[in-house]
Amino acid sequence: TTTKAGPRRVLLKLSGEVFGGGKIGVDPEVVRGIARQIAEAIRQGTQVAIVVGGGNFFRGAELQQKGMERSRADYIGMLGTVMNCLALQDFLEKEGIDTRVQTAIAMGQVAEPYIPRRAIRHLEKGRAVIFGAGAGMPYFSTDTVSAQRALECQCDMVLMSKSGVDGVYDSDPRTNPDARKLDTVTYGDALRRGLKVVDAAAFSLCMENGLPMRVFGMEGEGNITRALLGEALGTLVTA
Ligand code: UDP
Repeated sequence: TTTKAGPRRVLLKLSGEVFGGGKIGVDPEVVRGIARQIAEAIRQGTQVAIVVGGGNFFRGAELQQKGMERSRADYIGMLGTVMNCLALQDFLEKEGIDTRVQTAIAMGQVAEPYIPRRAIRHLEKGRAVIFGAGAGMPYFSTDTVSAQRALECQCDMVLMSKSGVDGVYDSDPRTNPDARKLDTVTYGDALRRGLKVVDAAAFSLCMENGLPMRVFGMEGEGNITRALLGEALGTLVTA
């Protein structure tokens, strides 16, 4: 369900993993390519909010396995996402797009605090808004935050970009060679079948609030722009 009239407004989730180009840290050429694609869609009139993950730096659950306290490990994970946000901001501005980073953990020297109504104003002015530091809460994921930010900022849709997989499959394509890609699926079905390409918490938040989601692979030429502009890539997940 759309909650507002006017231009298309979407929330794009970018996983941190891709920012590193397969390594730890930020690969500037990868981020430049992503920024170019986002800039193109904004120039064509789409309002774009972005949530960036941090898997290229730290994942809380992995640090926990190595003996670190979970909450502190998760805060480290959240801080990692902010580095990705600043890298993306830099390349978006090089493309001539005004951007604001808003973080869920206050750090006034580098970003605004998360203020939803202000975020909406930025979007209305054609600025890209990049949300960092997840929800500011341990035990959450950036997938779940994507659903929450999309709801609070009245986005029409969540666009979950994925690396290495191009949609939702009826079983795990990495382990089952017969897995089939679904063009559409309901949140209820995805949850019942335990399809884990997106967090269950993100699926259920979208389901309960009637917010559609498109899961697509970012690898194809121009895929991010195409998804932002509304092309039917990957899998549409609906309530
Ligand atoms: N994180 C968190 N709360 C949040 C969002 C993220 O604690 O609201 C932490 C968590 O440790 C996670 C890390 O930040 O592992 C990086 O985020 P995520 O794994 O979602 O990034 P992605 O896999 O998308 O790169």
